[in-house]
Amino acid sequence: SKADKKGQFLFYNNSISEQVKRKMNIESELICAIEKHQLSVNYQPQIRVSDEKLVSVEALIRWQHPQLGCIYPDEFISIAEETGIINELGLFVFKKACEDIYALSPNGKEALKLSVNISPVQLLEPDFGPLLLDICHEVGIDPERITLELTENIFIHRLDIVQPLLSKLRQLGFALSLDDFGTGYSSLSYINSLPLTEIKIDRSFINKFLEFYQSDMLVRMIIEIGRLCGLLVVAEGVETKEQFKKLLSYGCHRVQGYYFDRPLTIEKLSEKIILSQPE
Ligand code: C2E
Ligand code: CA
Ligand code: CA
Ligand code: CA
Repeated sequence: SKADKKGQFLFYNNSISEQVKRKMNIESELICAIEKHQLSVNYQPQIRVSDEKLVSVEALIRWQHPQLGCIYPDEFISIAEETGIINELGLFVFKKACEDIYALSPNGKEALKLSVNISPVQLLEPDFGPLLLDICHEVGIDPERITLELTENIFIHRLDIVQPLLSKLRQLGFALSLDDFGTGYSSLSYINSLPLTEIKIDRSFINKFLEFYQSDMLVRMIIEIGRLCGLLVVAEGVETKEQFKKLLSYGCHRVQGYYFDRPLTIEKLSEKIILSQPE
């Protein structure tokens, strides 16, 4: 009926305006979230497949908002990118993660490694590499312990611009991972022509590769190609023992996911590492 339609329309309208309001809220409050100490960093362990040892962690940002509760990065990173706040936010995460990980595990041969997500916006910021290096020096952490995770949308920008930027970062000592591998613009020529050290198989393949032949084939191919290119191959979103066993049989180097750990606070990570160390 007409009344129903009108009701639907109003409802639709309301929910849109709620979304717009939330976005505007997030946009304006993200600016002071850092100063107000509402942002924190969690760490998700990465496990070496060969000995099931925790060898690295990925830093993942969290925003505890006083009214809205915990806001996840999928909701605010794109807003931070649109407004440019991502530069400041990215450096905050990088510095906090370096400090936390260095305090937990000083430099050395068996030192815990750290992966940090980097937005393409940051990559294009002038002097981005030297800024990161300054932070490493300040903290005392060796840049060779750090992997910068980039997503395939860096290829939206011209390869002839991106390539030298990545080479510069490698020269400074940082390792480079291509995140969400297989979902975007990746082509074989890219992974061959860029100075990468690692690829991360996207969660969307891992969560269905046991059921679907297509995904299984893709996962095997990515692992094979990665290995042939001399890259470290990491699978993300590993949630079951069966997935882990299969990835082991395919030769995947590292895994990350809820089967092992959720992203942890630094306190929880620290406890975990202390408990796992032999006396
Ligand atoms: P990502 O880099 O692909 O990170 C992996 C995401 O998958 C994380 O979500 C993690 O909590 C989640 N995850 C890990 N294991 C599992 C699993 O077994 N099952 C499932 N279902 N999920 C799992 P999170 O922390 O919400 O982060 C979402 C995205 O936000 C990240 O995706 C990354 O693209 C971005 N992000 C997070 N922190 C930062 C940051 O500091 N800077 C930038 N630029 N982006 C960030
Ligand atoms: Ca990542
Ligand atoms: Ca990913
Ligand atoms: Ca992702």
